[in-house]
Amino acid sequence: MSEKMGGKPKIEPAKSGRASCRFCNKKIVKQELRIGIPYPFTTPDGKTVTSYGYYHVDCSPPDKIDSILEVLSTLTSLDSEIKDQIKEKLENLLKDLESSQIEEIKVIDLSPSSRNIQLTFGVIEKGDGRTVVVRKEERTVADIKIGDETGTINLTLWDEAINQVREGKTYKIKNGYINVFQGRMRLELGNWGSLEDTDEVIKLDSIKLDIDRSQFMTIPFIEPSKSSRGACRICEKKIEKGNFRVAEQSEIELEDGRKFSSHKFFHVHCYLESSSEAQAVFDDLVRTSQDRKSLSQIEVKKLTDEFQVYLSADETAAAVLALITEEPIKIESLKEIAKKKGVPFHIVKQALENGLMNGIYFEPSPGLIQKL
Ligand SMILES: [Zn+2]
Ligand SMILES: [Zn+2]
Repeated sequence: MSEKMGGKPKIEPAKSGRASCRFCNKKIVKQELRIGIPYPFTTPDGKTVTSYGYYHVDCSPPDKIDSILEVLSTLTSLDSEIKDQIKEKLENLLKDLESSQIEEIKVIDLSPSSRNIQLTFGVIEKGDGRTVVVRKEERTVADIKIGDETGTINLTLWDEAINQVREGKTYKIKNGYINVFQGRMRLELGNWGSLEDTDEVIKLDSIKLDIDRSQFMTIPFIEPSKSSRGACRICEKKIEKGNFRVAEQSEIELEDGRKFSSHKFFHVHCYLESSSEAQAVFDDLVRTSQDRKSLSQIEVKKLTDEFQVYLSADETAAAVLALITEEPIKIESLKEIAKKKGVPFHIVKQALENGLMNGIYFEPSPGLIQKL
């Protein structure tokens, strides 16, 4: 896996305060030491470019800690006291993960905010894997129907992890979390999670099939923000009153009377950036917003115009990314591409400055920013 990723992690002070940690989603403060994990991806014209995903030291992906420690030991740009501190942090992180004594949870108790989930489950049905493109990389994803004596839920597995489970067998998930995707709760492994074989046996006929926790439903829609107090769940910035926001609100009442509720808001562009099918998600959002009359026809028109500019700006940013890695940068070619795509140049500039493209943060060279 790490070979496929290519390249070593880097440890450096954050050059700006713009990048968000890929694990906790919070911003990494300028000058704070951060961990950069290389992710190669392919630009529209077929070039392979390595961009970095950044993490707080405390949020380092466990499977990368060994290589981070290796890089740390050879690093000359940090003084030894700081190096020792980081080393200690990383080693403690590994120890914590190994010894974490987390209580087992049952399917019925899963809620949209569940984290560090440890659960023993039987595999009811394993769906076929399908290919999706995530951040320009082809991956395989499969839905696995699992359950215990309290209910069932869908487990989403990616790539190699799919081959780890078989129908009718019992497994234990550690450090899983709940992702609400397209309005439904799904159990996921994430960066930190793992699947283990277990001696326990959950017989399929003991699984309570009539309670399906995946039925937890939220229908996201767009509305003008009613106040300036709410923050976007992705970028954590405030959503100004009157700006469009995506709302995911839901309540569920179980047979035994327990209630779960969840309220989340997002900037429209943040919500779309986190999806690999922005256009389809956008169309769905507009439809549900019209159904519940949270947007007027005029607002739908305004939103649709904004979205078209957003889409072409993203495409343009993708096209110029290849140039960013080549220095010196020909400013004229950036302008040319923007013109060809019919995108105002200031939007390209903004896309580069935000360093955000399809959810991946890349670092434009300081020289480029100056030239812009
Ligand atoms: Zn973090
Ligand atoms: Zn946002």
